Amino acid sequence: MSQLTLRSVHKHYGEVEVIKGIDLDIAHGEFVVFVGPSGCGKSTLLRMIAGLEEISSGEVTIGDRVVNDIEPRDRGVAMVFQSYALYPHMSVYDNVGFGLKLAGTAKDVRDRKIRDVAKVLQMEHLLDRKPAQLSGGQRQRVAIGRAIVREPDVFLFDEPLSNLDAALRVDMRMELARLHHELGATMIYVTHDQVEAMTLADKIVVLNGGVLQQVGTPLDLYNNPANLFVAGFIGSPKMNFVTGTVQSIVGDVAQVATQDSSMVLSVPATGLSVGQAITIGIRPHGLLVDPKGQLQGIVQLVESLGNETVVRVALTDGTEITAALPGQSHLAKGAPIRLGFAATECHIFDDQGQKPAP
Ligand code: ADP
Ligand code: MG
Repeated sequence: MSQLTLRSVHKHYGEVEVIKGIDLDIAHGEFVVFVGPSGCGKSTLLRMIAGLEEISSGEVTIGDRVVNDIEPRDRGVAMVFQSYALYPHMSVYDNVGFGLKLAGTAKDVRDRKIRDVAKVLQMEHLLDRKPAQLSGGQRQRVAIGRAIVREPDVFLFDEPLSNLDAALRVDMRMELARLHHELGATMIYVTHDQVEAMTLADKIVVLNGGVLQQVGTPLDLYNNPANLFVAGFIGSPKMNFVTGTVQSIVGDVAQVATQDSSMVLSVPATGLSVGQAITIGIRPHGLLVDPKGQLQGIVQLVESLGNETVVRVALTDGTEITAALPGQSHLAKGAPIRLGFAATECHIFDDQGQKPAP
């Protein structure tokens, strides 16, 4: 049974609709990441689940209860914010235990729970400190501890690592993955960072403009993006896109001419018809240097990373693409280059940005 369901959930601020009908099922113990660009409605959706934002229409169910009209504290959820929201005058011990104290939990029970959580989060040595005496990562850990101690059914995280530096973010990411494993709790995590989504999620929910774009495992989304938005959003470096028109189809291969007819590319013909305008998506790691390659251009920029070489190429039709070539390639800026790709590397989208139906 689902732990949490959203049914046709909408949110309006006055005339403006920011969440445009979301349906979603989250299973018990799942780590679900809401990802999308800034302003797409991630926080609004999370806050509606938390009860901090009214639901304009639709239904949110947690466990077997519709929670639309249930107070935040009675929903069995705990939320961790980007701005840790710790009480500055209280010690770490009191910050973590504050919710339990409010709920009237006995002192000895409270003490045991606070110490258990401190142990899980490896912050036993910090319990007497005030927030001002902690690093950013330690403060975030306290904020997470404050959520854990309440033993919620569902954890809600809103970009909890955004204020941390890159190295610490990676550490905390691993810590969160470990916590999820240890607690076995349902977690919903909001981020605009697709790498964070890919590394943490059992299930990724991609949002754009208040509309759900695709739901799937990280590899589902990477291997089979349902539309142009997901294709461009998931994966690093970003997928390349070349537009063209189908000239001919022979068997299961379509010949696609670029806008200026300077290149003709062979792609799988599934679902395509002659005359159709399409976008061909190819990931940077799907390209290789090939003297007979169908993509022709001029090398603009070479980034030698040691393990691979990232090359920026201006194609003859003016499109700029990125190739991530294995190992150390000695390519010169300004030199002509030809790149090839396997048919299996092609992602085809129609003029609506959707995968053509087979
Ligand atoms: P995200 O978390 O994905 O960056 P938000 O959920 O914060 O996005 O915001 C989604 C959209 O709703 C944005 O366009 C934002 O400007 C708008 N919005 C958020 N809160 C309010 C509000 N209180 N009143 C009006 N518009 C709002
Ligand atoms: Mg937000």
